[in-house]
Amino acid sequence: MNKTFKHASARASLFQESVIREMSRLALQHKAVNLAQGLPDFACPAELKEAVTRATLDNVNQYAITWGDKLLRQAIAEKTKRFQGIDIDPESEITVCCGATEAMVATMMALIDPGDEVIVFEPFYENYGPDSILSGAVPRYVRMRAPDWSFDEAELARAFNDKTRAVIINTPHNPTGKVFNRQEMQAIAALCQKWGVLAITDEIYEHILFDDNEHISMATLPGMRDLTVTINSLSKTYSVTGWRVGWAIASPELTLPIRKVHDFLTVGAPAPLQRAGVTAVNMPQVYYDELKQEYADRRKYMLETLDMIGVPYTNPQGAYYAFCDISSFGFKSDLDFTKHLVKDIGVAVVPGGSFFGDSPIKHNYVRFCFSRQDETLSAARERLKDLKKRS
Ligand code: PLP
Repeated sequence: MNKTFKHASARASLFQESVIREMSRLALQHKAVNLAQGLPDFACPAELKEAVTRATLDNVNQYAITWGDKLLRQAIAEKTKRFQGIDIDPESEITVCCGATEAMVATMMALIDPGDEVIVFEPFYENYGPDSILSGAVPRYVRMRAPDWSFDEAELARAFNDKTRAVIINTPHNPTGKVFNRQEMQAIAALCQKWGVLAITDEIYEHILFDDNEHISMATLPGMRDLTVTINSLSKTYSVTGWRVGWAIASPELTLPIRKVHDFLTVGAPAPLQRAGVTAVNMPQVYYDELKQEYADRRKYMLETLDMIGVPYTNPQGAYYAFCDISSFGFKSDLDFTKHLVKDIGVAVVPGGSFFGDSPIKHNYVRFCFSRQDETLSAARERLKDLKKRS
């Protein structure tokens, strides 16, 4: 008798397909306005398109050095100095990967052993769940609480123990729009130093900040430079999510294993796009100022729409999402709400449950993404006017 064929590994069976990307597929199917996936629907800067063409014409079409194009690593080091004031050695402290996504999973697979605990602030960007499973880490959630999504420092302190290997911080935060303030970052840093725990910080929204909010990069705090892996990417800052270029910055001792894992996962990020990334990373200050202003305008419009339909939200301090409490709308769950929205109203958003572990509030939220051109945001507003509470 033939043996039964096993389709999925035990590891792959432990997590679901991405809910965010699934919502984008449903948006297409129902011709809905897509406010689900976190990608801009507007063009990237023209000089970046030209830079990609130039790179391919200049024959930058073969494998780059596995840990990244030298010119891009130098540009990242210069930008890190310019914005964070810290010196990074591009030869030994930067690994360019296929997006922040690969940088995060390569970092976790390189630095975490099966059974090690990793502290994750909840709600969290959905990839950190599968990243933990793939690296064998045991996630330990620390709750952030609405309306400001602050956390209890005592609860955080209780989460640290001898098994803790890392804490993942994402600031500005997806999905809540929270920007961790200095006091919060210092509290985390103090615990990392006390317990000899790594901070893995996902800072891909560092330039999308509102009002007077300041981005604090963990590696700049006293004592944290060598205890931090800083993850970043071209995707959000330069509106090129499809390029798949991101990076991890860490001490040479941490970088060595990250580079090994990265090499055998992907060999390298696309070479011409890495080279074009030099133009992106070298954009002048005015680019960042305009980016901020444009996102402030998009946030204003999105929040006015939410006010109009009566959905409560936390005012985002950064990133490009509005995380909304839909518990007063009379739907059974976040999934029920998002299905109604995509099929009957014609707007796709992400059910909040995908950003939580087993929190009791996990089905009370949905995420609206506002990295969209004016026409998309106004089309969504028109449709959302039909949204009614269920009695
Ligand atoms: N990290 C966070 C917090 C994100 O929101 C996203 C995308 O939405 C990513 C990482 C993925 O980044 P990349 O496109 O560089 O892989």
